[in-house]
Amino acid sequence: MSHPVWDELLGQPEAIEQLQRAVADKPDSVHHAWLFTGPAGSGRSNLAKSFAAALQCAEDGCGQCQQCRLVQADAHPDVSMLVTDRVVISIEEVRDLVSRSSMSTTVGDYRVIIIEDADRMAERTSNVLLKALEEPAEKVVWILCAPSVSDLLPTIRSRTRNVNLRLPSIDEVATLLVQRDGVAMDLARKSALLAQNHVGMARRLALSSDARARRSETLRVLMSISNLSSAMVAAEKLLGVAKRDAEASSAEKDAQEKDSLLRAYGVAADEKLPPNLRAQFKELEENQKRRATRALRDGIDRIFTDAESIYRDLMALQLAAEVELVNTEIEADLSQRANGTSVEQTIAILDAINQARQRLASNVRDLLVLEALCTNFIYRGNVAA
Ligand SMILES: [Zn+2]
Repeated sequence: MSHPVWDELLGQPEAIEQLQRAVADKPDSVHHAWLFTGPAGSGRSNLAKSFAAALQCAEDGCGQCQQCRLVQADAHPDVSMLVTDRVVISIEEVRDLVSRSSMSTTVGDYRVIIIEDADRMAERTSNVLLKALEEPAEKVVWILCAPSVSDLLPTIRSRTRNVNLRLPSIDEVATLLVQRDGVAMDLARKSALLAQNHVGMARRLALSSDARARRSETLRVLMSISNLSSAMVAAEKLLGVAKRDAEASSAEKDAQEKDSLLRAYGVAADEKLPPNLRAQFKELEENQKRRATRALRDGIDRIFTDAESIYRDLMALQLAAEVELVNTEIEADLSQRANGTSVEQTIAILDAINQARQRLASNVRDLLVLEALCTNFIYRGNVAA
């Protein structure tokens, strides 16, 4: 029997095997709490969805039945996913999940509750969750996602079974783009490299010339900063790029989700929505709105990632290291810069990018974060010594 819900996941054979073994124990002894850890882009929430589908599906994840389709369309009534747009998950949000966990199932065999970014819980909030994990109700499965095990309280950790994901390699990402999306190998490899192995971002770069243009624009703006006033102008431009990026990725995702929800219920795209589905569509639209705030933050984060890639390239040139450069389109500029600047300066800039990430996460206003960061990128040209 094949289990296509796992096919989409890239480079995680160990994790998939571990979860398939758990699913094979249905219905008697599926562990009630899981912790999926791995870096951003490793596919934690996709894995959580596949696991949820495999739990609900009579064939352990066929990918075809209504149970599987509903889970994949984020529309399964017994699968809840908490996606927060806030820096911290509120205690009310977790209380709501806990009370939902005590409701009986409607169409599925399990009640599955997924918490993305479970590392964003304060201790008080974690304790509300802990109580639920300590007294597991029957047929309830919790899936927490976080960057690493150490991001959660030891008391929570001790209740969960850990599944660790790794970041897929550039070749794995490229192969996926070729096989699944029909992208030419050259473009697929380049996109994987530019996206620093992040699958979703690599796909967008491979499939959208607009996304590629936005990335080139980011590089151009970052390389053009020569004094304080151009740093301020650059910050504003970068915020604009992040906004356009966020809009494009939200629009694309929104349309896809709507489409898969329609397909899950066998409604044609041009057909009028049956009244009994209207509530579900409303909920979907509300979730999408909430996600838009988060999309801008992701767009800004991508700018940080692009900036990091520039300065890592610069460092590689300064150290004459034998590594593949990410930003070959600006290699000449970078080589020139490498001659006139020191590794210490580059390290200081990479630290500043890291700091900007933390400031953004702690809710400092986005333009202020970008302005402060851009002053670190001021480059007055190579002055002959
Ligand atoms: Zn199925």
